[in-house]
Amino acid sequence: MDRQRRDWLKTSAAASAGALAAGALPASAQTSGVLFAHEPSFIPVLGTGQRLQVRRIYCVGRNYAAHSREMGSDPNREPPFFFQKPTDAVQLVPDGVTIDHPYPPVTKNYHHEVELVAAIGKGGRDIAAESANVHVFGYALGLDMTRRDLQQAMGNEKKPWEIGKSFDHSAVVSHLHPAAKTGHLAKGAIWLDVNGTRRQSSDLSNMIWSVAEQVSHLSKYYELFPGDIIYCGTPANVGPVVAGDVMHGHIDGLYDISVKVV
Ligand code: MN
Repeated sequence: MDRQRRDWLKTSAAASAGALAAGALPASAQTSGVLFAHEPSFIPVLGTGQRLQVRRIYCVGRNYAAHSREMGSDPNREPPFFFQKPTDAVQLVPDGVTIDHPYPPVTKNYHHEVELVAAIGKGGRDIAAESANVHVFGYALGLDMTRRDLQQAMGNEKKPWEIGKSFDHSAVVSHLHPAAKTGHLAKGAIWLDVNGTRRQSSDLSNMIWSVAEQVSHLSKYYELFPGDIIYCGTPANVGPVVAGDVMHGHIDGLYDISVKVV
């Protein structure tokens, strides 16, 4: 977006919020009311009574060497790369309950990817990795659910893999654990069981790019704002789930999540 248009949008938004006197803009630029209003996506913050309003969902690809190899890449040569999911793809999983997760349409190869999720609490751009942790408000346990067949088919044709990654309910996430309570997570077990059998198992220390390094890289491409969340990549042994399967995810220091595919 060019600066002129961005400035106009900011001014327009400010006018809508009542910050400018009526009449400061042409009538055509003034709005009132909301057409088709919808709830923003929120993630509750444990122990605070507050909710984080999700602004954007970023995901990093191929951030564990073994998973990068299973996806056909050389983990030593590839800088982190990012994609996004729509904000309304969030599916919350509270502590101590099993949440029903709808099997999505079209796919015949629907995969689990258990991931650490980091939430930005302080925005910025061109953030240095050394100081990136102060931008991280807290952490959650997430599943970057993936229509693998669609993702790979689009990739093979050098088309965007959007339909493989960005769809309703594809951003499964626990409630947020403030970093003030958990510390910044750089090591600790991460695993996923399906029907009681261990499918994925690794350690956060095996991430090729640490959370701080991911935040630093991402902030070169996008200005980050509070409410942005980052799915930090999945360990090896991603695989399919079908209706009836129960996924049980774990990261040391966070509560476990339980999700049933229906
Ligand atoms: Mn992923």
